[in-house]
Amino acid sequence: MEQITTDICIIGAGPVGLFAVFEAGLLKMRCHLIDVLPQVGGQLSEIYPHKPIYDIPGYPDITAQQLIDNLMLQIAPFNPTFSLGERVETLNRREDGSYDIKTDDGTSVHCQVVVIAGGLGCFEPRKPEIDRLADFEGKGVAYMVKNPEHFRGKKVVLAGGGDSALDWAVFLSNVAERVTLVHRGDTFRGAPDSAGKVFDLAKEGKIDLILKSNVVALTGDDSLQEITLLDRNNQVSHIEADHLIPLFGLSPKLGPIAEWGLNIDRSAIAVNTVDYSTNIERIYAIGDINTYPGKLKLILCGFHEAALMAQSAFKYVFPEQKLSFKYTTVYGVSAF
Ligand SMILES: Cc1cc2nc3c(=O)[nH]c(=O)nc-3n(C[C@H](O)[C@H](O)[C@H](O)COP(=O)(O)OP(=O)(O)OC[C@H]3O[C@@H](n4cnc5c(N)ncnc54)[C@H](O)[C@@H]3O)c2cc1C
Repeated sequence: MEQITTDICIIGAGPVGLFAVFEAGLLKMRCHLIDVLPQVGGQLSEIYPHKPIYDIPGYPDITAQQLIDNLMLQIAPFNPTFSLGERVETLNRREDGSYDIKTDDGTSVHCQVVVIAGGLGCFEPRKPEIDRLADFEGKGVAYMVKNPEHFRGKKVVLAGGGDSALDWAVFLSNVAERVTLVHRGDTFRGAPDSAGKVFDLAKEGKIDLILKSNVVALTGDDSLQEITLLDRNNQVSHIEADHLIPLFGLSPKLGPIAEWGLNIDRSAIAVNTVDYSTNIERIYAIGDINTYPGKLKLILCGFHEAALMAQSAFKYVFPEQKLSFKYTTVYGVSAF
């Protein structure tokens, strides 16, 4: 069993958790990060690593994975430590106010401050009811596109009507041999611009668009070969497919964090916007996992929350010291 002592324990190594290391590091606070996923990067590395992001200040566009790689470079001087592939389970407060956090793998972290940067919670894709879906998981069925190259030259069927289904249909139309998008409705929930692109590509013959239909069954031997569809008039049809990617979103599960006595509002942690503290002393919540009036689930908002959190957490880590605000342009970044 690993025993770690640090100043701040950050739950979640998504972009916001990673940037929190930087803001804490500027104030000489050390961080340990825990993430249930085997890699850092949160939603960016897990769901859309190759997609460009256009609203990170200073970057006209940057792919999600490049942003995570840059964040890792930016925090390297502060030598953060990581427990990856481990889920945070319990939190215990010591008499002096500090906390012990334990993971499902038995890792124990003693820290002065807890920062919950858990995003949507532990990732669990919503799985539609399709006959033999589970039989083909990892043999043609995937719930996320980790590497688009995996689909090069393949017959890919996407199912869903949200942003992910639309965006990946557009992206994969240049990669796969054939892309079919199946949606139960005839209008899309996703961004109108993305839906427009899909309709245009369908007109050009680059995407097969099948509306008002559901995927109902899968067939194949060792791997997926054919998909059965049922339309609103109960007509059955079949399409050949190497891959099915059902994209019906992730079900946000706070998991054990929900049992810690935090104020939870619709699966998110209510915070004070002065410093993103929760109702429990020394516990902060930043990024997608928190909620407050006007909250926007954007990376840049999480970065701002991380900066204010660090300024506030300082008093718990260095109770004897006075905090003075400093610019990096003046004082630089001192590694430790
Ligand atoms: C398809 C798509 C496109 C997007 N495009 C944009 C965009 O263009 N611009 C933008 O600003 N935002 C965009 N977003 C939103 C953006 O990805 C999120 O705002 C961002 O990921 C939030 O970062 P985070 O660090 O708070 O959480 P996450 O990225 O969700 O990371 C949280 C991490 O916490 C971990 N975790 C949770 N609970 C536990 C636990 N109990 N134990 C251990 N680990 C745990 C999770 O495994 C996860 O890795 C997009 C999102 C999606 C899905």
